[in-house]
Amino acid sequence: KLKDNETRCLILGLDNAGKSTIVNSLLPESQRTDEITPTVGFKIHSLQLQDKLISLWDVGGQSTLRPFWDNYFDRTDVLVWVVDASETFRLHESQRELQELLQNDNIPQVIVALNKVDLTAADQLSATETALKEVVGPGASFVRCSGLSGQGLFALKEALARISY
Ligand code: GDP
Repeated sequence: KLKDNETRCLILGLDNAGKSTIVNSLLPESQRTDEITPTVGFKIHSLQLQDKLISLWDVGGQSTLRPFWDNYFDRTDVLVWVVDASETFRLHESQRELQELLQNDNIPQVIVALNKVDLTAADQLSATETALKEVVGPGASFVRCSGLSGQGLFALKEALARISY
């Protein structure tokens, strides 16, 4: 742990789930970028939330990078698992990757971000939530959001601020 008031947050999920878009939208306007490029390796951003400093680790989701995800769990306080709720055909892949991650001994608290609500019908959102709940169990929080429109990101910030460590 770098600083006592710092919460280290790891953002993971399949490629194209919307991780970089969410991170960008969480940042203060002055720090946002207009152009999001695919994340190769990782990017770290800092976000001040109430009395907490949150460091956001955006790790690339391409399948070639997935074997390295485990390396980041050291000193991670919270895992935000981002899923593109509109992509039914990749739900199983998302479930499987998350399940595999949760085998790790150092798993932090988990927030599941059901992203792209603007593209997703309500029954599809519920089905995605149910499917991922089976994987993470009762302890995790779920947030429905859109990195693009900003909808639900306040709830995500609140969930991050609630993380105790
Ligand atoms: P990453 O690979 O997980 O970092 O995904 P990106 O942040 O690069 O987003 C992948 C694509 O999905 C981009 O074209 C984004 O504009 C789009 N996207 C991300 N979030 C949303 C969302 O909430 N709604 C919609 N409609 N598109 C989104």
